Amino acid sequence: MPIHQLSETMINQIAAGEVIERPASVVKELVENALDAHASRVEIVTAGGGLNLIRVTDDGNGIPEKELALAVARHCTSKLSDDIHDIRSLGFRGEALPSIGSVARLTIRSRTASSGNAAEIGIEGGRVATVRPAAANRGTTVEVRDLFYATPARLKFMKGERAETAATSDVIKRIAIAFPAVRFTLAGADRSTLELAASDNSPEGSLRRIAQVMGADFPQNSIVVDAEREGVRLQGHVSIPSFTRANALQQYAYVNGRPVRDKLIAGAIRGAFADVLPRDRHAVTVLFLTLDPATVDVNVHPAKADVRFRDPGLVRGLIVGAIREALAGAGIRAATTGAAGMMAAFRPGAPVYDRDGSTSGHRSYDPAFRSGSANFDPARSPQRPLDMEIRGGFAESSQASFDAGAPLSADGRAGQSEAPEALLGTQLGAARAQVHKNYIVAQTSDSLVIVDQHAAHERLVYEALKNALHSRPLPSQMLLLPEIVDLPEDDAERLALHSETLARFGLGIERFGPGAVAVRETPAMLGEVDTQQLVRDLADEIADNNTTDMLKERLHYIAATMACHGSVRSGRLLKPDEMNALLRQMEATPGSGTCNHGRPTYIELKLADIERLFGRR
Ligand code: ADP
Ligand code: MG
Repeated sequence: MPIHQLSETMINQIAAGEVIERPASVVKELVENALDAHASRVEIVTAGGGLNLIRVTDDGNGIPEKELALAVARHCTSKLSDDIHDIRSLGFRGEALPSIGSVARLTIRSRTASSGNAAEIGIEGGRVATVRPAAANRGTTVEVRDLFYATPARLKFMKGERAETAATSDVIKRIAIAFPAVRFTLAGADRSTLELAASDNSPEGSLRRIAQVMGADFPQNSIVVDAEREGVRLQGHVSIPSFTRANALQQYAYVNGRPVRDKLIAGAIRGAFADVLPRDRHAVTVLFLTLDPATVDVNVHPAKADVRFRDPGLVRGLIVGAIREALAGAGIRAATTGAAGMMAAFRPGAPVYDRDGSTSGHRSYDPAFRSGSANFDPARSPQRPLDMEIRGGFAESSQASFDAGAPLSADGRAGQSEAPEALLGTQLGAARAQVHKNYIVAQTSDSLVIVDQHAAHERLVYEALKNALHSRPLPSQMLLLPEIVDLPEDDAERLALHSETLARFGLGIERFGPGAVAVRETPAMLGEVDTQQLVRDLADEIADNNTTDMLKERLHYIAATMACHGSVRSGRLLKPDEMNALLRQMEATPGSGTCNHGRPTYIELKLADIERLFGRR
């Protein structure tokens, strides 16, 4: 075949291959057009997952009758003049409508504010019909029927009605977050209706829209991020570390109002949360970057979801720094889902929440089966034998209240007296008892606080170790006899290489012939530790992370490994002043609201909620 110029329709179908991947891409392009036309209402209707019908109606500026033919012609746009570096609209390539028109049956009906009537144009499989008069209000309605009828190969790749319907909802939600003042509705026989009432562009309005899209528990469990560096502004919300997801799908990012999926931003979010989240959990985030359009390239891919920053280091540094600072500034805060889940669990027949805050079904109340029938614990069963109750239950609780009550009483007498006023006013309150050898029960002026002492202590040790990296080395405790640990030669070598860092943490370690190290000192704050196990775990951790991670992150993993060893293991009985000291230390340590694995270290039940449980309110 000789070289020849492809037909206009062929060119458009080739372009459609990239721009129009599935029904959700059509919806995205049409909604972007409506927003570029300054619409305040956008209505979307779909049928058959969008393959049968997509109709987008807006109340925007409209298209003048004489421009309708151009709107469906390739490379025709009203949004780009001569400067590709100054893109302020969502669209600019002038290829969405002709691409859609080449693979589907497309009708555009539009009316501008100044014209007395509407006009309409059709295009089917690339064939354009003449413009004719029509009846419509101001704005534009774009209707797409039989998507991909002209390109059956693409049709075969569709995932089925439900998947396409869901993908379209996602597209709308993603874009709606950036336009809180616009009302969106998404309806159709193939879906349940989604209605996002118009809010406004203030920070509160933006947060209302975020709650509409992501659920009301996100604002409650997130903190504000707002920072600027060299003309780049970062604003938004990130979840507190105890509010996480199993994947990164709930991370929304916008560059100059455009929804993007960007590796750099995703990587920066991961980096910012690296030391408060386990590697398999993901933060929930909504981040808006605003910067000079000339410093970011959006013309990377026809779908316009990729961006390139002129100064990627600046953007990454801004995101990591701003999120870390926000997390530190937020101090300790436990997820409300913990307390909410607990409240729900207390109520007969109430839904049970899992860690994602989603309901996992309705179960009737049975304390023995609370944590799942697989973990049935006879000691907690209402049918437990009496002697068990005496040994396990009463014995422990009397001991605990003795431990906690006596020295706390204001007048020096043992028994249940009021805790000191001053302590009641603190965030975590006055320790009243230790139960089940691991839970500190504390009282504030208006709530009951339960602290997981093991998780809390682990976090405190970790924070102290991290601090030791930047400031004074931690105190160590000399061993009477050095402890020799036998290890594979590689591990011994790796440990020796890190001996200086380990010394900062208070772990004195040196080579002891081939395949062994001698431990002379251990970190004082860890107390008595199993040195052999600690050293082996450290060797594993260093080996695992030696190759890829940056030095600093590696050190954080080392700190985490050590923290895990030194923690007040559940099972240790604490004296009241030890408990109170732990609570005060938690209050003073940013990030101590979650353990190193992202679980909450404490939960707080408001007195009002407790009273509601007892029907007093
Ligand atoms: P682009 O958005 O990149 O300009 P499109 O093919 O999506 O390219 O649209 C072509 C042109 O049609 C737009 O530049 C705009 O002028 C006009 N247009 C499309 N949709 C609308 C709409 N809903 N309201 C007003 N004008 C529209
Ligand atoms: Mg467009």
